Amino acid sequence: MSNNHKGYLIAGNWKMNGSLDKNFSLIESIKNFNSYDKKNSEILICPPDLYLSQVRKMLLDCEITFGAQNVSKEKVSGAFTGETSSFMLSDLGCAYCIIGHSERRLYHGESEEIIAEKFLRLLESQITPIFCLGEPINIRNEGNHTQYVISQLENVANIIGIDKFKNTVIAYEPVWAIGTGMSASPDQAQEMHLLLRSFFSESGIADTIRIIYGGSVKPINAKELFSMPDIDGALIGGASLISDDFLSIYESSLN
Ligand code: PEP
Repeated sequence: MSNNHKGYLIAGNWKMNGSLDKNFSLIESIKNFNSYDKKNSEILICPPDLYLSQVRKMLLDCEITFGAQNVSKEKVSGAFTGETSSFMLSDLGCAYCIIGHSERRLYHGESEEIIAEKFLRLLESQITPIFCLGEPINIRNEGNHTQYVISQLENVANIIGIDKFKNTVIAYEPVWAIGTGMSASPDQAQEMHLLLRSFFSESGIADTIRIIYGGSVKPINAKELFSMPDIDGALIGGASLISDDFLSIYESSLN
């Protein structure tokens, strides 16, 4: 199937890592990389919110995109201490925002209703959602991973309407592969990406959606993953903090 040439998306999720100094060196190295080819493969950096301004400023004179790791579900500004609205993210120039990451589902009790609200807030602010889903290890061991992931998708699609997924990004991130060093094999990932893309076939938007893979993507496994027809890029945690690794993964997407 594949996404019909929207190009790869190579997204770095810095999670709760970084400092002014570390971010400066990391962004400098990424900016100095001279094989950047945005038409074929886009680099996206998602720092903690606190550093969005720093990253934005450093990226003003280049084509590298930045985005956020989370957004408030609230529609209007006001008394929501500690929250960041989609308007604020868009005001700053965020092009993308991650939602539904397994760490937010697990540690912050984010339900599918909340994720659906966040999805809508992002669309209202012209920010592209990167909607994460994926099964935990026990579900895979039981052989129920396909049903599990489809119901994660259905639960949100039933709330917001399937058409809202047009031109968005889905990140298939098996929970057992995140931060463990144990990536899904290219065949395992392709099976799930094809399943996810097929979900959108009837509504005619399957080829507008980039389906990226996340879970221990490293320089050593990136090329094989990207050779799969339905893998349109990667959401990268640990390796996005090491410029050589991140750029090596990026280069694998160009070949
Ligand atoms: C992630 O957090 O989205 C992720 C994929 O992390 P890692 O690359 O470290 O497995």
